Amino acid sequence: MSEILKNMIRCKSCGDIIESTSTHDFVQCSCGRVAVDGGLYYLRRTFTESQNDYEELSVFSNN
Ligand SMILES: [Zn+2]
Repeated sequence: MSEILKNMIRCKSCGDIIESTSTHDFVQCSCGRVAVDGGLYYLRRTFTESQNDYEELSVFSNN
């Protein structure tokens, strides 16, 4: 089971890079299309239209 080291995405619409650093840290990009949540425990993505709205930038450990 790999650990989450960074829970991060980049919005393709506004270009914002957003990162959730703790479980209830809900972060939205400036245009509001995408958001991340869950910190290092789970990856939660919120998007308005499709998963193509963002680029996945999360980093995992290789264990
Ligand atoms: Zn955006």
